[in-house]
Amino acid sequence: MSIKENLALVQSTIPSTIKLIAVSKMKPTTLIQEAYDAGHRAFGENKVQELREKTPILPEDIEWHMIGHLQSNKVKYIAPYVYMIHAVESFKLLKEINKRAKNNDRVIKVLLQIHIAKEESKFGFNADEVKTLLASPEFKELENIEVSGLMGMATNTSDKDVIRREFKELKNLFDELQNEFFDSKTFTELSMGMSSDYQIAIEEGSTMLRIGTAIFGLRACAL
Ligand SMILES: *Cc1c(COP(=O)(O)O)cnc(C)c1O
Repeated sequence: MSIKENLALVQSTIPSTIKLIAVSKMKPTTLIQEAYDAGHRAFGENKVQELREKTPILPEDIEWHMIGHLQSNKVKYIAPYVYMIHAVESFKLLKEINKRAKNNDRVIKVLLQIHIAKEESKFGFNADEVKTLLASPEFKELENIEVSGLMGMATNTSDKDVIRREFKELKNLFDELQNEFFDSKTFTELSMGMSSDYQIAIEEGSTMLRIGTAIFGLRACAL
């Protein structure tokens, strides 16, 4: 099937209120252009280097989502244009994004990554850490970031109950933080769900799906 057909098929299984981010990591720009020509605009990448190679040769109105682990020293490269940074997991990174956003005279939308999986390898804050962060005066000084919501990745397992439980946990924390620290106009996004688990994510309250394989096909290998 073509990229256009894959996109239409995935889109047909998603409520129109939910945002689909087409994860194009490790895929050539020709395929991204194909999705663009089919009308898609939101794309996700997980490496700064790849973004730096791809963005100059693709249309300027693409909405780029940085979804992967991000090192502070690389924020400067994407700060001029990145639409949203999904995987913010330290105050240090948040401060650096704020600084680089300010240099570029903009406000960058970020999501705080929460560690919900049972795997040690995944990044993110736990519930207590994120509450401490949001309550701190240092956090309130950051004027060039907008915390738009939370992001999480479930355990890589075929056990649907485990995945559902983790997504539920993330949604509960999202609701709690929205009540306690934000108004419901800016803290609105819950980025959870990938090709293998997005139907469960939708049922548990996701607002943004990050889907690669179901649109672009399998990646050669996980770098
Ligand atoms: C690769 C990746 C995805 C997409 O995964 P698929 O299984 O290909 O849909 C989603 N989120 C993050 C953070 C990723 O790195």
